[in-house]
Amino acid sequence: MTSEIKISKVKESKVTQVDLDNVTMGFNFTDHMFVCDYTNGEWQNPRIEALNLIPTHPAAMALHYGQAIFEGMKATKGQDGTPLLFRPDQNAKRLNFSADRMGMPQFPEDLFVEALKQFTAIEKDWIPTKEGSALYLRPFMYADEPFIGMRAATSYKFIILGSPAGPFFSKKIKLFAENKYVRAVNGGTGEAKAAGNYAAAIRPTEYAKAKGYDQVLWLDAQDFEYIQEVGTMNIFFKIEGKFITPDLSGSILAGITRMSVIDLLRDKGFEVTERPIKLTEIKEASANGTLEEAFGVGTAVGIAMIEEIGNDDFTLKLPAENPVSNMVNDTLNAIKVQKAEDKFGWIVEAK
Ligand code: PMP
Repeated sequence: MTSEIKISKVKESKVTQVDLDNVTMGFNFTDHMFVCDYTNGEWQNPRIEALNLIPTHPAAMALHYGQAIFEGMKATKGQDGTPLLFRPDQNAKRLNFSADRMGMPQFPEDLFVEALKQFTAIEKDWIPTKEGSALYLRPFMYADEPFIGMRAATSYKFIILGSPAGPFFSKKIKLFAENKYVRAVNGGTGEAKAAGNYAAAIRPTEYAKAKGYDQVLWLDAQDFEYIQEVGTMNIFFKIEGKFITPDLSGSILAGITRMSVIDLLRDKGFEVTERPIKLTEIKEASANGTLEEAFGVGTAVGIAMIEEIGNDDFTLKLPAENPVSNMVNDTLNAIKVQKAEDKFGWIVEAK
């Protein structure tokens, strides 16, 4: 396959119709999309073209058997206006991990990163610059072969979309410790970024919200004993000055923010341990006053402080101050706009 990306730009950008200082993620889309087709066992015809509807056969296999995976990341601008990506190589790897689990073809990782760079460079005027805002990028792959029957599809599309995301004012969140529904089970698809995982989380999230909580705290599928994730974020706790986060046990999505936060905390001299964490351990730490901070981490929000964890049986309030998590949040945001040194080599220029 040629990895030369064919580019057909729109005549006039729609960016002037959008107030980038007041956009909500996911509602507005940039002018173009990157598209690549998988047919005859090969990825073909990589191209950046006008964002448009895609004719879909009603028997497209993604619609029936759910071969659909996605990624999420954000582009920012450096102090001199250069468009920047954050660890796109990690998204490329995770997409292929998800593809493998869902019986889908691998997408070349160098083309993934190159496509993101060229797409972001073309859409650079869509990157909001107000503090905390960014251009959300959504690479995804789905089976478009029309066929009714249970097997891996033979044709797929890989697409990248861009959606400007306004400044995110992170509010503290209340977590519903879910003890009826589960997100993931070892051997299942929870560690893949598969579309169906999100469908399965929608109804429980609605129930949690109806009870006055913001997000679901997902517990293990066997005994509802171990903490997995929160909403679409990974979770960290600080107890007696040390950080813990659930280990990647086979049912947790390997968040790129999670791995970056672990590196940042260790770099700041904190001990971080990845291990199974029981809900009872957090309750005990809260009761004896050693639970100092708790927060969720993910691309969409960065770092979300947790103020309460509970369900119909218990309520646990967390300390109001989050000094270390705030510091990590600020450092991560500063690296993303080149206000702080990128000592880990996470930033990739999109040009
Ligand atoms: N867990 C789940 C289930 C998610 O959907 C996400 C968002 N991709 C995360 C964790 C956080 O991952 P990341 O830091 O790569 O955004």
